[in-house]
Amino acid sequence: MSEPGVMPEDVLGGLLPPDRAAERHPVAVIECHEEIPCDTCRWVCPVGAVIKPSITTPPRVDWDRCTGCGTCLMSCPGLAIFMVRLRGEWADVYVPYEFSPLPRRGEVVAALDRMGEKIAEAEVVLSVRSRDGTGMVAVRVPREAAHVVRAVRAGGSR
Ligand code: SF4
Ligand code: SF4
Repeated sequence: MSEPGVMPEDVLGGLLPPDRAAERHPVAVIECHEEIPCDTCRWVCPVGAVIKPSITTPPRVDWDRCTGCGTCLMSCPGLAIFMVRLRGEWADVYVPYEFSPLPRRGEVVAALDRMGEKIAEAEVVLSVRSRDGTGMVAVRVPREAAHVVRAVRAGGSR
């Protein structure tokens, strides 16, 4: 049995993009595997890259279609969508950010894992807010942390 709130490793493995896709440009990583009645990610995607045959079917990403626009990430009510771009020895990890103020580009923040534990200090490389106020922050981390970092906290040294 898995711990509540923790994605089983075998499930997680099936949700991660192939390196070849994430090396081209940012791609969505949707870590939503419960059969919940929600399909916001499917209908906001402008290119039909979210595969979701019914409202309760967990979403999957067509990484050949995904353009990395970030719309689904900033629209997901469950904060379950991220984006990853692999850049040689580095990776940019894009996460939703609900607090104010948004960390600014160039700021150093704490990069956190799925349990909220600090993994490293990381530089913010992108910081945007959608029209409805949802934030998206991207941090640059070592490549091996591409699928470990899933949140950030302002104030990198804390
Ligand atoms: S990042 Fe953009 S293109 Fe990719 S799945 Fe999300 S909404 Fe669609
Ligand atoms: S919008 Fe978020 S919570 Fe809803 S189905 Fe998509 S990934 Fe899951």
